[in-house]
Amino acid sequence: MQRVSIVGGGASGFAAAVTIARAGGFSVTIYERLQKPLKKLLATGNGRCNLTNMQANTAHYCGDARFAEAVLSRFPPQSTRSFFRSMGLCTKEEDAGRVYPLSGQASSVRDVLLEEARRLSVQIVTDCEITEVRAQEKGFLLNQTYFCDILVLSAGGSAAPQHGTDGGAFRLCKQLGIPVVPPVPALTALVCKRFPKNLKGVRCDCIVTLCTREKTLAECEGEVQFTEYGLSGIPIFSLSRRASESTQPVFVRVNCVPALSASALLDFLHTAVRKTPEKSSGVLAEGLLPRALGDYLLLQSGIRKDTPVGALPEARLRSFAGIVQAFTVEVERPRGFDFAQVTAGGADCRAFSPQTMRANDYENLYACGEALNVDGDCGGYNLQWAWSSGRAAGEAIIKRQKEQRRKACAADSGVEDPA
Ligand SMILES: Cc1cc2nc3c(=O)[nH]c(=O)nc-3n(C[C@H](O)[C@H](O)[C@H](O)COP(=O)(O)OP(=O)(O)OC[C@H]3O[C@@H](n4cnc5c(N)ncnc54)[C@H](O)[C@@H]3O)c2cc1C
Repeated sequence: MQRVSIVGGGASGFAAAVTIARAGGFSVTIYERLQKPLKKLLATGNGRCNLTNMQANTAHYCGDARFAEAVLSRFPPQSTRSFFRSMGLCTKEEDAGRVYPLSGQASSVRDVLLEEARRLSVQIVTDCEITEVRAQEKGFLLNQTYFCDILVLSAGGSAAPQHGTDGGAFRLCKQLGIPVVPPVPALTALVCKRFPKNLKGVRCDCIVTLCTREKTLAECEGEVQFTEYGLSGIPIFSLSRRASESTQPVFVRVNCVPALSASALLDFLHTAVRKTPEKSSGVLAEGLLPRALGDYLLLQSGIRKDTPVGALPEARLRSFAGIVQAFTVEVERPRGFDFAQVTAGGADCRAFSPQTMRANDYENLYACGEALNVDGDCGGYNLQWAWSSGRAAGEAIIKRQKEQRRKACAADSGVEDPA
């Protein structure tokens, strides 16, 4: 029986373990450095686990997106849902293709994986950090103690170390001579320079544009959260990877009223001036924005709240309209790995085959999940990558074993192998 060691008891490690163990003929062990496996899964989707996205395609992935496409096309979101259904978990699709467990609880996703692993006699060794891996003539020796024929690296990235992922996978890669694309935080908030602290707590639907002084880098829409240090929320998370990569100063331009065109916004302000000239200028912001944000933007455009609307010069009105739709702040830095949901960078996919997830330079070494240089947008894309790549590694291990058995049988019987 071939011994398979899976380093990292997270999403991709369990997907690989369950896939392999279902085939039979393997002894599968997961090594997990924390006290319990699948800890991160409980925190996903705000405790609801956004486990895939029906719109998952290359456009939603960065890093080695072509590598990701080759894997995702064989294990698409529908097959993730079927995989979970086969373990007894129903899922439902919500807005923008996001899929959640029907129970609405991430713990259901963890529980079905644990139960299936238990049913299939997968060994789970917890409190066990693998810090050393040595390639042997056949197989691998872990921590100078555990031997295996086949090794699957599924130890995640560097994001969210509180959930067990502190870059250990990359240290193991380096020991094996596998190149690592420098990891940077992705899907994280942005710390901004001279950010007004009194905006803390404001939430508002915006279009946010990330740009340098010369060009636009990316644009996203959704609910932005204003914090004491800068900007957060899903659209900001989506910009953060590009901010991490930029070597030049970057800025976020916030359109705080994307529902109105520039001319419709000016019309709204002119109407207020015409119809209620005696009202104080505060009304201009009240009809458009959350109070703290409105007050701040009025001030920034040189308008005192108590000035009657009718007394405002046209230039002031235009300046207010301009800042409402292009409030710009300079990014100091993305928040670090402690606050990031995912890692951009990681084990260089060029050292692996997208068909098998197997390393080019090792007979029996596989990698999957966030440890590889693939990262997705917010919205279920990263877990989809973890399930797809874990299952791809699992299927490849099974297929290879079958081939080896067939060859061995052919050799024993003296019949020429038809393959
Ligand atoms: C707060 C939060 C919310 C998220 N929400 C979502 C979401 O809703 N949808 C989505 O698609 N993605 C989400 N993500 C991202 C997603 O959880 C990850 O991309 C995904 O879990 C990666 O799977 P993985 O198997 O590669 O690694 P992980 O799930 O991170 O698992 C790696 C495991 O390896 C263990 N480990 C690490 N090093 C070692 C070692 N040396 N020896 C032994 N064990 C080791 C770790 O303890 C960990 O358990 C979220 C992430 C965070 C932090």
